[in-house]
Amino acid sequence: MELSDLRHEQGASIDEQVNTDRLHQLFRQSVSAVIGSYLAALMLCGLCWDRFEQACIFWWLGLLTASTLLRVSMFVAWFRSDESERTPRRWERKYWATLVLSASIWGAGALIIMPADDLLAQALVMLFTVGMSVSAVSCYSAYRYMTLVSMALVLFPCTFWLLFQPSTLQVGMALAVLVFASFVARATRKMSEALEAAFRLTREMERAHNISRLAAQTDELTGLNNRRAFFERAQQLFEECRRRQSSLCAVMLDMDHFKHINDTYGHQVGDRVLQQMGSIICTYFRATDVHGRLGGEEFAILLPDTSIEVAVELLENLIVTMPRIMTGPVHRITASLGVASMQSEDSDLHSLMNNADKALYRAKALGRNQIAVAEPV
Ligand code: GH3
Ligand code: MG
Ligand code: MG
Repeated sequence: MELSDLRHEQGASIDEQVNTDRLHQLFRQSVSAVIGSYLAALMLCGLCWDRFEQACIFWWLGLLTASTLLRVSMFVAWFRSDESERTPRRWERKYWATLVLSASIWGAGALIIMPADDLLAQALVMLFTVGMSVSAVSCYSAYRYMTLVSMALVLFPCTFWLLFQPSTLQVGMALAVLVFASFVARATRKMSEALEAAFRLTREMERAHNISRLAAQTDELTGLNNRRAFFERAQQLFEECRRRQSSLCAVMLDMDHFKHINDTYGHQVGDRVLQQMGSIICTYFRATDVHGRLGGEEFAILLPDTSIEVAVELLENLIVTMPRIMTGPVHRITASLGVASMQSEDSDLHSLMNNADKALYRAKALGRNQIAVAEPV
């Protein structure tokens, strides 16, 4: 991938990445909420077993069991799914649906089981609904509206009911809950903004790191590996072929009379010829081959699992097709090539490259526009 492509691709997708990060955070943070909210309901019913109507308790817990199982199955599906499938488009709606369902059951159920004539039981119910709201803040902080909606669904039914009761104690309790909820709601904005900023910053740093890493490895003019990156990758390939005891050919390519091209047509045309040479090399060789611009008008290619005969045939074809593909004002563009095959005497990559380089000089001496094969030592 070229540098400009990388910049474009990453620039376009940073919002998507931030959204995906938020979703991952949501699933990680809220897994405990699924079980936690069910346990809270069980505890509340246990504490007020004699104060609530038993039929209401069974209905409420029955519905909560069903919605909890639904949410658990969604979480299981999430953790089993492939990383690439965990996208907001696929999961956000499902999450919203199960959250709204379970929060509605919790909030409406709490109202239904709350006895009209038992102040202590009412206070206990309110304590649990407030507790549920606080945990909603910690579980859904990446999604502000999820926090607010789940808080409203759990808190508001009981709170509004209390607000219209005759006792000042009940009205006071409802007002206190509303004031408290308004503070929490304001805090959720700051939390979700801070989280989003952190995700964005992380992604932008990652992008800057990738761009600078790629820039340090890429030859700006041709987009091929630069000298350093070529030798790094070539070294890995050399060692791999050595280990597998498979064949490996090294090719050195030098454009002929390039100084003359520059002198006659100008440096810019010379640059364009080098760019074209870069794209020919890039498309002509396989993805498993390693190539790069070593400097000036000199290129190198390593061909793994390739015998010297196949390499020569391949390069002869390249020499014939190259001038045909080249466009522009230069009439005749040729190159000389030296090719060497890895021998048992080649203790390292540099000895192999050296043999290809010597062959290249022979190709030049023999009249250019040709291939010379390194002579066995
Ligand atoms: P030979 O056939 O023997 O290789 O002759 P040559 O002229 O190609 O070789 P020489 O080494 O004498 O000249 C290489 C030329 O390549 C000289 C230099 O100005 C030119 N060159 C090196 N890097 C660049 C570049 O990035 N852009 C352009 N346009 N020219 C370059
Ligand atoms: Mg040259
Ligand atoms: Mg040269």
